[in-house]
Amino acid sequence: MSSLPSHTRVVIIGGGAAGASTLFHLARMGWTECVLLEANELTAGSTWHAAGNCPNFSGNWTMMKLQQYSTQLYRSLGSEIDYPINYHVTGALRLAQSKDRMEEFKHISSMAESLGLEFEIQTPEQLRERVPLMETHGWRYRPRPTHTSLCERCTRSGLQD
Ligand SMILES: Cc1cc2nc3c(=O)[nH]c(=O)nc-3n(C[C@H](O)[C@H](O)[C@H](O)COP(=O)(O)OP(=O)(O)OC[C@H]3O[C@@H](n4cnc5c(N)ncnc54)[C@H](O)[C@@H]3O)c2cc1C
Repeated sequence: MSSLPSHTRVVIIGGGAAGASTLFHLARMGWTECVLLEANELTAGSTWHAAGNCPNFSGNWTMMKLQQYSTQLYRSLGSEIDYPINYHVTGALRLAQSKDRMEEFKHISSMAESLGLEFEIQTPEQLRERVPLMETHGWRYRPRPTHTSLCERCTRSGLQD
């Protein structure tokens, strides 16, 4: 372990997604004298196990905004830190299997619309056109959800500073 400074402005404890992101954003805002302490190694905690899905589907406005910010950030993060990251914009489908669920989708869809996110509620006919093998009674398509390597992302952004 390298020696630690005796004085610092910020100490971040834990080098998972949250800690690495905090450090990245502080550095991006021009903060210096920030130290990240990791007991094991970067991304050794939950972040190591994450599947890397980056959804933007949430019933909570704050979470949806956070997800929107994150998915926008990941699009440019590789070039910003001048290191390629795995980030695949795949889109995603969510199936409504009850009327109540469809109501929830409508609510979430209108929230997404107000944030400028691309959500669409599609008819079974539209779904059959897109995915001919699927039997449906109603569905929604989200063009933007994505997949990335959380560990890789953290390691890259954490190591930059
Ligand atoms: C199986 C699985 C799949 C998942 N899939 C997804 C997914 O697809 N998409 C998604 O967005 N989220 C997913 N998650 C959730 C996501 O992994 C977590 O929400 C996220 O990684 C939490 O990050 P964190 O930085 O808060 O915690 P952690 O990654 O756990 O980081 C905490 C860090 O703190 C360190 N630490 C602890 N105590 C100390 C100490 N005293 N001093 C110094 N360091 C310390 C640990 O070693 C660790 O590295 C998944 C989680 C799991 C378990």
